[in-house]
This record gives sequence, structure tokens and C-alpha cells, in this order.
Amino acid sequence: MKFEGQKVLVIGAGLAGCDAAMFLASRGVKVVLVECKTLFLNPAQKMKTYAELVCTNSLKSMSPDTGHGLLKYEMNAMGSYILSKGMEYAVPAGDALAVNREEFSAAITKGLHEHENIEIFAEEAANPLELQKRFECAYTIVATGPLTTEKLEKWLTQDLTEEDFYFYDAIAPVVDADTLDYSKLYFKDRHKELSEEEGESADYLNAPMNKEQYEDFIAELVNAQKVPAQNFEDYKFFESCLPVDIMAERGVDTARFSCMKPIGLEKSDGTLPYACVQLRKENLLGSAFNLVGFQTRLTYKEQVRVFRKIPGFEEASFIHLGSVHRNSFLNSKKLLNFDLSSKKYETIHFAGQITGVEGYTESASMGLYAAWQVLRKLEGKAPVQWPVDTGVGALVNYIMTVPKPSPSNINFGLLPTIPLTKEERKNRKGRKKLKKAKASQRARESFDQFMSENN
Ligand SMILES: Cc1cc2nc3c(=O)[nH]c(=O)nc-3n(C[C@H](O)[C@H](O)[C@H](O)COP(=O)(O)OP(=O)(O)OC[C@H]3O[C@@H](n4cnc5c(N)ncnc54)[C@H](O)[C@@H]3O)c2cc1C
Repeated sequence: MKFEGQKVLVIGAGLAGCDAAMFLASRGVKVVLVECKTLFLNPAQKMKTYAELVCTNSLKSMSPDTGHGLLKYEMNAMGSYILSKGMEYAVPAGDALAVNREEFSAAITKGLHEHENIEIFAEEAANPLELQKRFECAYTIVATGPLTTEKLEKWLTQDLTEEDFYFYDAIAPVVDADTLDYSKLYFKDRHKELSEEEGESADYLNAPMNKEQYEDFIAELVNAQKVPAQNFEDYKFFESCLPVDIMAERGVDTARFSCMKPIGLEKSDGTLPYACVQLRKENLLGSAFNLVGFQTRLTYKEQVRVFRKIPGFEEASFIHLGSVHRNSFLNSKKLLNFDLSSKKYETIHFAGQITGVEGYTESASMGLYAAWQVLRKLEGKAPVQWPVDTGVGALVNYIMTVPKPSPSNINFGLLPTIPLTKEERKNRKGRKKLKKAKASQRARESFDQFMSENN
């Protein structure tokens, strides 16, 4: 037996943990899977079965020229169990992969329980090192997700991360830069004079509003439909990170003196707008912008409706929308190696949303990535970093380099830029599509090449 005596412990049977466990087990590795949801559910969970999709039932786009389509290409090539069951239990959803969540989760649970190389224990993990020793495992993959239980959180914060364990309860939306009307927007950093001669350019894009526009916008925020609070969230926000709709409810001028303040944002004619929405580049390319301070409780549908009232946003499309939920994740750049092993305890790896990615598909792909690296180690090979122009490689590169950890979905802005010819750039309408198609093709070629050399 190739891996005799070398077991791997996987903690958490969510999207990442299930994909990691099945990846290893189907290659002959004995896996111990520890999951606590059969003992108690967290406030977002409704089912006792594994790989639960706690909110939407969509694993996002299948279209080859989207970030999610690219991830699926790579996951499929790696034999992703999550993806294969997703396809098996798909429900019609245009070019997205939506699934019947109950059947999807039940089938995954059954498959894991029936696998001869997987042993499952209903237990709340409190200390991965102790568990690894107790189950006599060579390596561990911690994939306990955004709602990692308190006991494990205690170990993480006391033994591993110190202050570097983040609790995000509200996320601001991110808008696709190519869908904005720049005739209504201007670049300027607050209180900062830039020297064009020295090639300095502003980091912030601003959407100015006059009094009437601002007051209408605040009224829309107040009246918009919000996501009802779940009992665990109870909407206890940090005062310094209040959702914009809560600010709007506190009074018509509150936002104008906080996230929408115009001070220092004079327009080129020297006038000061009444209020301003600030947009910050999400990536070096400037292909996406974060709406600064616009974390929100609005439902997704209402976000699209209300935020399109911001000047310049009339046809905006959003790369991801704002959301409110607890989200525990590591400062991977500081704490992990590129193979997602802990710098302090090299046999302990992390995978899924806890590494600082966001979303079902992204989390599952991180499970595969961590399992692939662990398999290499079991085979006596050194870990290898994936090319940054692949989907999974770009996600890993993002979490390992982003200056201030902030969970991200997959999007082409995370991949190195694709140069277009002068002719191609002239085609304003088609150039965005072309860029994505080129990035996607390059990523697939790079992935195929890498796998042929390293598998
Ligand atoms: C309220 C909410 C809404 C969301 N909505 C969406 C959405 O609409 N679309 C989207 O793509 N993503 C959404 N997400 C994010 C999504 O949940 C994650 O991207 C994805 O599930 C993460 O996968 P994971 O495997 O890392 O963690 P999970 O899928 O959360 O799996 C972690 C598993 O670990 C188990 N576990 C936790 N602690 C322990 C412990 N100490 N011992 C043993 N087991 C443990 C849990 O019970 C769970 O089964 C949402 C998250 C939340 C909290």
C-alpha cells in the first residue's frame, strides 16, 4: 500500500473539507474526517448533512470566460467531488451551476461515509495538534469555514494567530470598472496633491452628488429591503464599520459626515460636492472598485437597484455584492506558507474560506489545492506554487500577497493583466469581453502545462 501508515486528518466537512477528503481518499490515502454539525448546528446551518450551501444554491457561472468558469475548469481537471456532485444534482439556472441543495449535500455525505478510505467522527475539534496526534495522522487540513466554532477559534487565536484572526461582519460591494460612466466620475485622493510630472495618479474614483441626489439616495437606503438578522449575527456592529444603511437610518446627514463626506474631494473646477461616494481600486489593474464604507444589510436585489442610483452607476454590474455575516479568516500572508501549511506548525494546513477566499466554489478549490500539496508531501515531493495566471493560483497569490486581508471571490482582476493591441483597445464595447476570453485561454493553457509537468 503506497501510503501505508500515513493518514491525513481533515477538520470540517464543508465545501473545502469534503473536496480535500475525497481528493486524498480516491488516491489511496486514509483520511480521518472530523465534523461537529451532527452534534449541533451553527446558526447558518439547517441540515445535518455535509457540504451544506448555507445561502444561495448557486455555484455561480459555468461560462468559460468568467472567473468561476475558469475555477470549474481547473477543479474538474483535478477530479473535484463537489463539482461532480454539483453537475449531477444541477437545476436549471441559465449558464450558472445551481443545485438541489438537499440532494447535493445528501449524496456527498453518502459518498464520504461509504468510501473505504474515509473514517468520519462526529466531534468538535478544539486543538488540531492534539487531534492529529490522537488519530495518528501525518498531516492535517483545517477547513472549518467562516463560522469556525468558538473552541477551535480559541486555539487559533491563542496558539497560532494572536491578533490575526479577522471577524468581518459586513462586506462592501465591488463594482466592475468597465461598467461605470466615467463622464460623471473623477479621480482624486482626499487632501492629496499629486504630481503628474512624477507620474503620480490618484487611487480613488469619486461619484459626486448634489443635495437633491444625496437626500433621495439616503431615503432609498432607509426604505430598501434588508436581509433579516440571523440570531447569531444580532447585528452588533463595530461603530467604525457601520453598514451604510444603518448610518442612513441614524439621520439624513450621518453618511455625509462619514463614508460619503466630500471634504478634500474638490472637483477640477474647485467646487466641493454636497456628498461623495468613494471607490477604491480592488486590484492593481483597476478593473474593479470597492465602494468604500458601503458595507450593507440590503438584500442583493435592492443593492443593485439602489446603488445604480449613484451617479455614473446607471449600468453598473457588480463583481460581488455587500453582505453581512460573521467571517473568521486568517492573515494567510503572515501565517501560512504558499502550500497553505502553517508557518508555526508545518503539518497543519488550512483550506477553504478560513484562508481568506470568499464563496462556495472558491472554498472548494482551496480544499483541492491544499489536498494536492499534502499529497505531494506524502509522496516525498516538495510543494510547488501554482502559476499566478491560473484561477486557483491567482486566488492563492491573492491571499498570500494582499496587504490588508479582505476576503475575495475569484475574478479576472486577480490574474496578471492581458495586454491588448491598440486596435483591440479601440473597440470599447468588445474589449472587456476580449480581455476575459484571452485571460481565460491563457489560464487554461498555463494550468494544463503546469499539471502535465507536476502530476
Ligand atoms: C450566512 C452566510 C451566508 C453565505 N452566503 C453565501 C452565498 O450566498 N454564496 C457563496 O458562495 N458563499 C456564501 N457564504 C460563504 C460560504 O458559506 C462559504 O464560502 C463556504 O461555505 C465556505 O466553505 P468552507 O468549506 O470553507 O466552510 P463551510 O462550508 O462553512 O464548512 C465548514 C465546516 O466545518 C465545520 N466546523 C466548524 N468548526 C468546527 C470544529 N471546531 N470542529 C469540527 N467541525 C467544525 C462546520 O460545521 C462546517 O460543516 C455564506 C456564508 C455565511 C456564513
